[in-house]
This record gives sequence, C-alpha cells and structure tokens, in this order.
Amino acid sequence: MTLIDGKAVSAQVRAELKVRAQAFEAAHNKKIGLAVVLIGEDPASMVYVRNKIRECEEVGIRSFAHYLPADTSMKQALSLVRALAEDDNVHGILVQLPLPSHLDAEVLLRAIPHEKDVDGFGAENLGLLAQNHASGCVSCTPAGVMELLHRYNIPVRGKRAVVLGRSNVVGRPMAMLLLNEDATVTVCHSHTAQLKEECARADILVSAIGKPKFITAEMVKDGAVVIDVGINRGADGKLCGDVDFENVKDKCSFITPVPGGVGPMTIAMLLSNTVKAAERVS
Ligand code: NAP
Repeated sequence: MTLIDGKAVSAQVRAELKVRAQAFEAAHNKKIGLAVVLIGEDPASMVYVRNKIRECEEVGIRSFAHYLPADTSMKQALSLVRALAEDDNVHGILVQLPLPSHLDAEVLLRAIPHEKDVDGFGAENLGLLAQNHASGCVSCTPAGVMELLHRYNIPVRGKRAVVLGRSNVVGRPMAMLLLNEDATVTVCHSHTAQLKEECARADILVSAIGKPKFITAEMVKDGAVVIDVGINRGADGKLCGDVDFENVKDKCSFITPVPGGVGPMTIAMLLSNTVKAAERVS
C-alpha cells in the first residue's frame, strides 16, 4: 500500500506556482492578485481565509482581503464583488462560504465573472467542465484529487471509478473530471441502493459524504485506490475522514490519509487557478 502524501505534493505544486508567479510579475510589472471576501465571523471560515492569505503570500500572489460585518446587505456585498470584477489588479475572486443566512450565495457568486471564478463554483465553469473544455476553472478539491492521481501516476482511463457524494463543490465536479479522463464513473448518494456493492466494485473510490469512518474494508475491492475527501470529527473527537483508515488501508494499492491527504491540495489548487486566471488574461 502506498500512502498518498498530500502535504508533499501541495508543497511541490506551490513551489512550481511560485516560479510562474515570479515570471508573471517580471513580464507585467505587477503581482498576480486574489481577492478574498469574508462576510461575518464564522470561526472555521476565518481560519480558512487566514490560511488562504498566508499561502498566497508564500507563492508571491498579492491578496486583497475584504472583511465585512455579518449584517452586510446584499446590495453592499454585490457592489464590492462588482468592483472587484472590474479591478485589473484582481485576477481571482473568492467569496468564502457559508454566507450569513440573509445573503443569497447564488446571486453573489453569479456576480463573479467566470474568468475570475477561481473557486470554479459558478454555472459557467461547471458547464465548461461538463462539456470537457479545458479552459475553465475547476473546483479546487476535486482538482486536487486529480492532481494527486496524476502525480502518483495512477491510471484513470478505463478504470471503474465510484464517487460518493454529489455536491456541486465536490462530488459532481469530481465525477465529471474522472469521466473526462475516460474512467467509467458511478455517482452514489443518500438514495443509492446497494451502496456497499457499488463501492466494492470500484478501482478508484472517492468518498465525499462527510460521515466519519463510513467506508469499511468490506466496501473496498482488493488493490483499490481510495481517496478520502471527508473531514469529520470521530467519536473520539479527533479529525478523521469518511474512510475507516486502519480497517481499510491494507486492502488498498493507494490511500489518502486524513489529515494530510486531499486537504492540503485544496488551497494549492486555488492558487493554481489564480495563476492560470492571470496567465489567461495576460
Ligand atoms: P455536502 O454538500 O453535505 O454533500 C454530501 C453528499 O454526500 C451529498 O450528495 C449526500 O447525498 C451524500 N451523502 C450523505 N450521506 C450519505 C450516505 N450515508 N450515503 C451516501 N451518500 C451520502 O458535502 P460536501 O461539501 O460535498 O463535502 C463532503 C465532505 O468533504 C465533508 O466532510 C467536507 O468537510 C469535506 N470537504 C473536504 C474538503 C477538503 O479540502 N478536503 C473540501 C470540501 C469538502 P444527497 O445529495 O442525496 O443528500
């Protein structure tokens, strides 16, 4: 069994992005810019935003942080996003979710032009992915999973891939990415009949359901590649994935740990999308 080291791969990706960010700056006499909008004081979001800004600085991307109070109106939020959309120093815009409940995330995300939608959550980018166009920004977590598969030389073409979860940010784009690389893809969700049997047929099993230690050895085929996107608190209060790692690991050819697997790739792919967005307009 090979343990997939997301920390090491993300460090490698960031080192490569740093070189590209420097080249952009040399050619354009300005840095690549990422605007991050945080509305309210959700504690987890504050940590995520802090980490995103820190990692931006590390690779030489300029960050524009906009912290707005929880009672920000839709009109105020929209006017900020529209101003960022017009700003030539801003190549990527990220609105940290979840938003306070009085704000409509869909409307706000729609105000981000697709060229600056570095989270890849917008309809245009999801549509480009569905049409197998390489020109869009792909949602960061599933893009990170593909990067791990590529960097570990794990073949995808012709493989039977099973994705658990169908959210717009993880499961759905994950399934499309695997399909675009010629896997035969099954998407499972909370209404799937015979879920265990579906999983046990997978050459590549990706779980993104948010259920601690849900995937057990009987659901994993011998030699399968198991990718655990889940981030959960186990019964012992410790961070764990959707996969019962200890129970499953000896059956796998490759497996991602939690933490240290998919997680570190998400911000790396956000930075990668931002660099690509800047390079596209230059
Ligand atoms: P989500 O929006 O809550 O979607 C969960 C999906 O799982 C839904 O499609 C749901 O099915 C399905 N599901 C839930 N329980 C199930 C069950 N018992 N059997 C089969 N399917 C089930 O979650 P998400 O945003 O996609 O995130 C999923 C997990 O990934 C979470 O643990 C989250 O923390 C983690 N995550 C990690 C990263 C990272 O950087 N590593 C990034 C994003 C998310 P229905 O559609 O039928 O309801």
